[in-house]
Amino acid sequence: MTFRKSTIPKYQQGAQLGFWNVREYVLFRDGHICQHCKGKSGDKVLNVHHLESRKIGGDAPNNHITLCEICHKAYHAGKIELGQKRGERLKDATFMGIMRWALLDKLRGIYPDVQNTYDYLTKCSRIRLGLPKTHYIDAYCIAGNHEAVRLSYYWYHKQVRKHNRQIHKLKILKGGIRKCNQTPYMVFGFRLFDKVICKGKTGFIFGRRMSGSFLVKSLDGEKISAGISYKKLKLIGKRQTFLTERREVVLPTHS
Ligand SMILES: [Zn+2]
Ligand SMILES: [Zn+2]
Repeated sequence: MTFRKSTIPKYQQGAQLGFWNVREYVLFRDGHICQHCKGKSGDKVLNVHHLESRKIGGDAPNNHITLCEICHKAYHAGKIELGQKRGERLKDATFMGIMRWALLDKLRGIYPDVQNTYDYLTKCSRIRLGLPKTHYIDAYCIAGNHEAVRLSYYWYHKQVRKHNRQIHKLKILKGGIRKCNQTPYMVFGFRLFDKVICKGKTGFIFGRRMSGSFLVKSLDGEKISAGISYKKLKLIGKRQTFLTERREVVLPTHS
């Protein structure tokens, strides 16, 4: 396949194209293998480490590296050095360039009429149709079937963290006590991100206090209650990795 270099958009903003977050992207980019010991430690728990502190280095993928927990702890304890500095070997833009074509190839094997499109083409049809910039409208523009009759709602998905953070804090307290890094799994029978009815509205649990006072929000961040007793909540769905919320749309009129 050949293509002109000028037709490839910059991946500066799009380095994680198609990935849910930096963490998922970095793990995938590094092949789910510790970049220090290359898996020799046998530790299956993987952490995503900031090469430079978040404050200095920021959250871009080339500031992250996959380490197994053994290596990660050893690094923070000053026992090992990482042979890698930020952005040295991690050519994210090139990687995404390769990924795009590899993915396209795979998809073409399954769906014969898969087509490639670019950011700027989507932007172009969005402007031509006079539509605002939102994800669901992007999807409509990308699909290219502008004669389609559109629904008056869409499903909004949001991925939340799995129960995969470090169980204990890295620093061990005086007296050799390991401080727990996580609130208990279940608090008064509710888990984080359970779907609940609160004050007649549907929301998700975003915070739980041991006092039984919970924070309930909708997915767009609207606080339904900053502190409501768990007794007043009705559980309507157990937490899932993807939270789903039905959203109504005011359809724009265009000729
Ligand atoms: Zn390792
Ligand atoms: Zn780290």
